[in-house]
Amino acid sequence: MDDDMWQTVDAVADWLAASSPVSAEMQKVLQILKITEEAGEVAEAVIGAMGTNPRKGFSHDWDDVTDELCDVIVTALVALGRVRPDDAPQTFRHHLRQIAARCPTPS
Ligand SMILES: [Mg+2]
Repeated sequence: MDDDMWQTVDAVADWLAASSPVSAEMQKVLQILKITEEAGEVAEAVIGAMGTNPRKGFSHDWDDVTDELCDVIVTALVALGRVRPDDAPQTFRHHLRQIAARCPTPS
C-alpha cells in the first residue's frame, strides 16, 4: 500500500516535471505553493457544501471536499518528494511515528 502510494506520487512528480518549463529548483518551490492552492480548493468546497456563499449556494458536496482533501495530501507528498528526493517515504514514515508517539493511545 505504502509502496503503491509512493509509486503514484513519483509518477505524478515525473509527469509534472516532464512538461514543466522551469528549473527543478523552481518546480520544488511551485509544488510547495501548490499546496496552498489546493487548500483553497478545500475551503471553497466546504463553503459550497455548507451553502454559505449566497451567490453560489450549495455548489459542492462533501464528496467534493473529500476529493480536494486528497488533492492537498497528494500535492504535499509530491512536494515532499521534491524537497527530499532520496528519502521522502522514510522521512514521512519517521515523522508519522513521531506524531504517533505524541498521540494518546486509546485505553
Ligand atoms: Mg484540487
